[in-house]
Amino acid sequence: MTEQERTQIAENIRRVREQMAEAALRAGRRPEEIQLVAATKMNDAERVREALRHGIDAAGENRVQELLDKYEAGAYGDKPLHFIGTLQTNKVKYLIGKTALIQSVGSLKLGQAIAREAEKRGVCQDILLEVNIGREAAKSGLDPDALDETAAILQENPSVRIRGLMAIPPVADESDKNTRYFDRMRQLFIDMAAKKYDNVNMDFLSMGMSGDFTAAIACGSNMVRVGSAIFGPRHY
Ligand SMILES: *Cc1c(COP(=O)(O)O)cnc(C)c1O
Repeated sequence: MTEQERTQIAENIRRVREQMAEAALRAGRRPEEIQLVAATKMNDAERVREALRHGIDAAGENRVQELLDKYEAGAYGDKPLHFIGTLQTNKVKYLIGKTALIQSVGSLKLGQAIAREAEKRGVCQDILLEVNIGREAAKSGLDPDALDETAAILQENPSVRIRGLMAIPPVADESDKNTRYFDRMRQLFIDMAAKKYDNVNMDFLSMGMSGDFTAAIACGSNMVRVGSAIFGPRHY
């Protein structure tokens, strides 16, 4: 990694933080309320470690194998590690004990698999329920109408704790920058908090990525997941 790349990452994070703070203040909220999760996929341990030195609240990984490799390489230091990608139930066991938060729980089945595995280890795993807010056939996540039932069942498991909601809305058309979907998510978040389930703390509303995090903050997000605006474009 060159000195220039290091400087670039630090500079990018400074700019993202600045934009986050402006969006928070415009919405009448305190900048400290909003967490910045670095979406680290396809960035190696060295780049991740560099980013985490510059005011990132947590690292968010998408793939189990990639997470394990970087974990071994000491990429995350003492920063909280989140899982934000598609998760198969048979891989849950690799995450328990490593991840502070599994954000992408998009089915009851996955929530129950996490509960079982956490119980085996004698720990409580924090999770977010992922909502398929655009009701897109190709996307994972719970249908908004299935949220209540899922929370009602999962609250019976002391080894998982629901900490909030996460969403990846449909690719925006420029005109509304996903505001519609973000607004709906905020409403779901408020409704679920009002229902006061046991064992459910509606602390985090995770939405907003590089292209739309300021719009998400305007709509109530308090956790943004930012990748390319920190690390530069990914080359697939
Ligand atoms: C990659 C990713 C992000 C960040 O995407 P960028 O557009 O690069 O900021 C956020 N959330 C999830 C779930 C991701 O997979």
